[in-house]
Amino acid sequence: MSHLAIPPLIDRHTHLEGALDPVWVRAEAERRGWTVPPSLIGLWGGNATPFEGFIEAFLFGAALLDSRSAVREAALAAARRTLRAGGAGFDLWVSPHFLVVHRAQITLEEFWLGVEEGLAEASSWGLASCVILDAVNHFGPKHGHSVLNLVLPELPPFVRGFSTGGLEGSPFRDWAPVFDRARAAGLRIAAHAGENGPGSNVHEAILEGGVERIVHGLRADEATFELLAERGIPVDVCPSSNGALASDVSPHPLPRMLAAGVRCALGTDDPGVIPCDLTTETAAARAMGLDDDALATLRRHGAEDAWCLGIEPR
Ligand SMILES: [Zn+2]
Repeated sequence: MSHLAIPPLIDRHTHLEGALDPVWVRAEAERRGWTVPPSLIGLWGGNATPFEGFIEAFLFGAALLDSRSAVREAALAAARRTLRAGGAGFDLWVSPHFLVVHRAQITLEEFWLGVEEGLAEASSWGLASCVILDAVNHFGPKHGHSVLNLVLPELPPFVRGFSTGGLEGSPFRDWAPVFDRARAAGLRIAAHAGENGPGSNVHEAILEGGVERIVHGLRADEATFELLAERGIPVDVCPSSNGALASDVSPHPLPRMLAAGVRCALGTDDPGVIPCDLTTETAAARAMGLDDDALATLRRHGAEDAWCLGIEPR
């Protein structure tokens, strides 16, 4: 590969609510007189945890996002982490419905202003970014419609996708009408699948949900790898997050997925909760036995399939 052809390094999967820097979280918790939960301290220390423990830790950071300036800080944390690792952009998952309606801790207007200010500053540093809405899978499709009801009337131009996350609790075929509605509004469709749910969810998300991008896909079988490869469906892989939250999936399937021709790329997921950046994730991929060519392929996919680079604003 010529040095002229090196594509930009993109963090393909990072959550706003999981982005806050631990130093900022500790200081803010102290200021408020809140106790940082042991689950979060454990994750900061590199301990694996069941998904439920992760949710508690994740929610602690999310609870701090109750002002425009805190939301801006979270977006900037994602941007700084990307920049420090030599990255050129990031696809940012956000959960406005959770913060605005479920927790009722911030208005939608303040939330979007915080995101917009953070992303504008990131742009001034030369970083590309876009936003993907994250709905909670285990709250079901009705919740998915509520997310769309909340955001579609005044959707900011930097929002380019709609995704499901959380526990893989409801079948993707039931989500298909929600995905159709999001698609009709000009959004691309992604889903966390095959992470805390069975590998068959990846298959279902694609064939029954019409999902065009998979996050994690860890538990997919070889036949599903073939499907992913055949259709050119991108898969965002986050080694540190997977090691902490899906430690039973070992060895990590990334080398097999790449060998099967799946368009995998690296992301950080919740790097403020499970400390990592694109440098650690690249090192983790190398530690799985991937050589320079395979790492270059990950980086190329990362740029070619990134929604922060590849999709025109709506
Ligand atoms: Zn995620």
